[in-house]
Amino acid sequence: MSFFSEKKLLIATHNLGKFEEFKSILDDLDLKIVSSRDLNLSEPKEIEKTFLGNARIKSRASCQASNLPSLADDSGIEVHALDNQPGVHTADWAETNAGRDFKKAMRLLWNKLNLIKAKKPFTAEFCCTLVLTFPTGQEKIFEGRIPGEIVWPMRGSDGHGYDPIFLPKGYSKTFGEMKNHQKNRISHRYKALKHFINFYHKTLPKIG
Ligand code: IMP
Repeated sequence: MSFFSEKKLLIATHNLGKFEEFKSILDDLDLKIVSSRDLNLSEPKEIEKTFLGNARIKSRASCQASNLPSLADDSGIEVHALDNQPGVHTADWAETNAGRDFKKAMRLLWNKLNLIKAKKPFTAEFCCTLVLTFPTGQEKIFEGRIPGEIVWPMRGSDGHGYDPIFLPKGYSKTFGEMKNHQKNRISHRYKALKHFINFYHKTLPKIG
């Protein structure tokens, strides 16, 4: 008996952009990766006030419904000059009656920063908290962050969410201009998943 005896991992997300990143970063692991969407699982409400709280809700709900080890991500952007952070509400800023509109969300963020006459550069950080829940109830937490700044106009059409206005520190391309494999070598999600990958390798000797 081991943590991953079925060699399967559920990624507790319905967000296709995130799921593609998970699959690409975890590609080398000997694990079959499925998403909540693939298994038709419902999306629980994210009612907590922290990334950890919301990642835990998603991870536990998916694990209970699937009986598989379930890894959930809660992520978002923290913009240092703002009192009211997008943070755990990052996705909500994009809500419209017709679904999520990230161009609207990015414009809203840019306008807010200009309205309060924030000092440039508009420094920010993408944050990712991962919670892994096993059918036994055991839990592991992994975190990753990447510093950068909010830039305008939007640049690039690759990626998802706020990628076109996030310029990672030390780079000349926004996440939206980077090819997936470039972003996936430096991102907040990559850094958190690196901790997961180390954990996975440590548990391997127990298999069999
Ligand atoms: P969650 O699904 O509640 O974790 O929503 C997180 C939101 O943060 C996403 O919908 C995106 O808007 C934003 N976000 C998180 N990670 C990224 C990223 O890597 N690029 C762009 N936006 C991101």
